This record gives sequence, structure tokens and C-alpha cells, in this order.
Amino acid sequence: MSENEALLIIDYTNDFVADQGALTCGKPGQVIDDKIIGLANETLASGGWVILPTDVHIPEDPYHPESKLFPSHNVRGSWGREFYGSLANWFVQHQDDPKVFMYDKTRYSAFAGTDLDLRLRERKINLLHLTGVCTDICVLHTAVDAYNLNYGITVHKAAVAALTAKGQAWALDHFEHVLGATVR
Ligand code: ZN
Repeated sequence: MSENEALLIIDYTNDFVADQGALTCGKPGQVIDDKIIGLANETLASGGWVILPTDVHIPEDPYHPESKLFPSHNVRGSWGREFYGSLANWFVQHQDDPKVFMYDKTRYSAFAGTDLDLRLRERKINLLHLTGVCTDICVLHTAVDAYNLNYGITVHKAAVAALTAKGQAWALDHFEHVLGATVR
């Protein structure tokens, strides 16, 4: 990975991954922990960027479209919004690194309503490595926006997980055959 590449770790929080999470991928989400940490360390060692777009909500927000679709999740300040597993410690150890940043997002896509595109362009980052959860929801919508904005996309299939096996398989196929991503 070069300085023009960024690893995105999307929504790897307790609510999406832990057994007790509100909207959890469960085991498939938990087993990708090591792979995500390995990629994060490799990325920093080779001069790339590590970006952590992280869902945030107000409980029962009457104006948010997800309120009708999903149980309350990733509420600011809650256990559910803390990073899951090894990522929690990894982030504490690396949060002051100028090449690591976490930021809030409120929609599926890491681009929707955020300054991600500006930050990437400022840094001349043109290739995004996607990891995290859920493959067919937030990773997918982030990939669609990245595609429309002309970023190169690599999806690390051992570092993404979905709520269902069907969703995982469908999304991996879509990344490769419709969004032109490298899936590896
Ligand atoms: Zn959400």
C-alpha cells in the first residue's frame, strides 16, 4: 500500500459484531478481527492511511430513515458504538497517528453527508481498501459512492462480513462485476 491508498474500516463496533450487539453479524463478523488488524498494521507500515468511518445515531430518531428499518444501534457514547475486539485497543494505540482518523457518519455510505471525499482528495488518495461490516449494507453503499467518484476499490473478502451468507455472496459478486472492484 502506498501513501495514495487508504484502508477503510467500516462500522467495526460492538453493535454490528459482538454477540450482544443490536444489529450483529455475529460469528462471521467476529472472525475477521485479526485480518482487519493485520491490514491496518500493514497499511501504516507501508505509508498508507487508516480511516474509520463509524455510524452514529440518536436513539429512536424520528427523522432518521433507519429508525423504521432497524433496532436502535450505534448510539453515541454507548457500549454498542465502541470498537469490537482487538480494534478497540488498536485504535487507542494509534489514534494520535496523523495517518489514522475516525469520524462519524449517519448513513450507510461513508461518503454521505461527510467530508470524506475532500479529505481523500487533499491527500491525493485514489485507491480505497474496504473492510468491516456489513458487506451488503454500509460497505456496499460506500463502494457505490467510491465508484461514482472514480476511486479505485479493493475489497478484502476475508475482512468483511454481512448479516447473512446470501448478502455476503451477493455483495462480493456485485463489487467485482458491477463496481469493477478488485476482490481479494
Ligand atoms: Zn445505522
